[in-house]
Amino acid sequence: MTDNLDNTIPTPCGTEDPGRIKDHFELFQTDEYKELFAYKRQFEGAHDPEKIAEIGEWTKSWEYREKNFARESLTINPVKACQPLGALFVAAGFEETLPYSHGSQGCVAYFRSHLTRNYKEPFQAVSSSMTEDAAVFGGLNNLKQGLENAYTLYKPKMIALCTTCMAEVIGDDIGAYIATAKNEGHIPEDFPVPCAHTPSFVGSHITGYDNMLKGILTTLTKDKKAETTNGKYNFNLGFDPYVGNTRELKRILDLFGIDHTILSDNSDAFDSPNTGEFKMYNGLTTLEAAGDSINAEGSFFFQKYTTPKSQEFLAKEGGQKTYNFRPFGIRGTDEFLMNLSTITGKPIPQELQVERGRAIDAMTDSQSWVHGKRVAVYGDPDHVITLINLLLEFGAEPVHVLTGTLNEPFAAEAREILAASPYGKDATVWCGKDLWHLRSLLFTEPVDLLIGNSYGKFLSRDTGTPLLRIGYPIFDRHHMHRYATLGYQGALNQITWLVNAFLEEADAKTGVVGQDISFDLIR
Ligand code: SF4
Repeated sequence: MTDNLDNTIPTPCGTEDPGRIKDHFELFQTDEYKELFAYKRQFEGAHDPEKIAEIGEWTKSWEYREKNFARESLTINPVKACQPLGALFVAAGFEETLPYSHGSQGCVAYFRSHLTRNYKEPFQAVSSSMTEDAAVFGGLNNLKQGLENAYTLYKPKMIALCTTCMAEVIGDDIGAYIATAKNEGHIPEDFPVPCAHTPSFVGSHITGYDNMLKGILTTLTKDKKAETTNGKYNFNLGFDPYVGNTRELKRILDLFGIDHTILSDNSDAFDSPNTGEFKMYNGLTTLEAAGDSINAEGSFFFQKYTTPKSQEFLAKEGGQKTYNFRPFGIRGTDEFLMNLSTITGKPIPQELQVERGRAIDAMTDSQSWVHGKRVAVYGDPDHVITLINLLLEFGAEPVHVLTGTLNEPFAAEAREILAASPYGKDATVWCGKDLWHLRSLLFTEPVDLLIGNSYGKFLSRDTGTPLLRIGYPIFDRHHMHRYATLGYQGALNQITWLVNAFLEEADAKTGVVGQDISFDLIR
């Protein structure tokens, strides 16, 4: 512990021109702030820097790794978000739909800011604003008033309602509450309010996505089942943060001439154009099309570990065939397009065949830089599988594969994929783990590249492993979500990001003046 030696508080206010506002990058490096930070350390109760460095070194060891993996009651830097975030995300894809979170203000502020920070886009969602009295007496009054206000002020066509921890802990029966709100005339009887219980102490954002999607489908398809199909196909991308993927999928389906409904098309909700006019709602799936989805010929789900309940609902209630494909990378896209062709009886469009050739060409051009490289990947289960498929196709070697959710079927599938390739033989699959676990893995079994969301930047700095940002959220880089990772075009994008990550690293390692014999112009 450092003793409190000095009570003279240094002032960070310099004598410079007060009209010149410094960015924090510069400001906190000034002598005044350095002095202030040094002064404050005496109150932090911190250990000696030498001790901190010694323990820091120990946390890189195998001994610490074993202790770290024995950890049970603590999560550090989780690879997941809570259920309602996924519920609001999927709700945003429906026409004039207002996402509504039944709980406290703080929760919905977190969901809105999380989505806004990823997409750099305002995100509209409301809350019951429950406080202490609601925690004791239940949230019925808040919900009735909240629904009435939201309906009157924001004039949505649908309110998609999910819960938060607080509402779940006190046991609010939201189905009964919505019925009461309608009976008492707070909202019209026929106004759609699909709901989902989304307790955050189980599952993750992908569970919330599924619960809300099933809730929306259940409400909108009620009494809509017809004798014959509508000839269309439904497509659902799951919790896919890339708006470019929905657009790429629609382009592929249009090239095929397939009549389709995207179940939750939130591509414009998270990427609306700046026209100078505010538009409150940008969800592109009409309520009519969503209601008619029960009558489709079949439904495609691209994230089977995200949407099991929704898939089961359409299979059972709609009597439809449902399909799981992952149209990512070369093989995944091949399988999807060939099956689409078989199912619909339509040939694969020439334009897509040319795109395939280009993606293969790009992979061939770059494979020498990627072949044999050791990689760690983390993220949601389906997302991680698409990444390991692409890495194996490219000749890279996935070493650490980690998700934040516990999912044994996912782990079994991932292990099977890895075992089928010579490049996957050294891989280990970890479920229900966090980024502090991954830190131990990276220190004890280093890799050449880390792939995942922005939270990995701390691991990257700690371990000296370059980070390629693919996934959700990406807070510290802009516009990544507009690219596609789906289809051959998406494969081409990911091939580009991947090889250039290795080339950046090659430049960084060889760029020391005086030792730069391999700092080549041409790579
Ligand atoms: S974990 Fe629970 S309390 Fe925290 S933001 Fe999510 S719903 Fe709210």
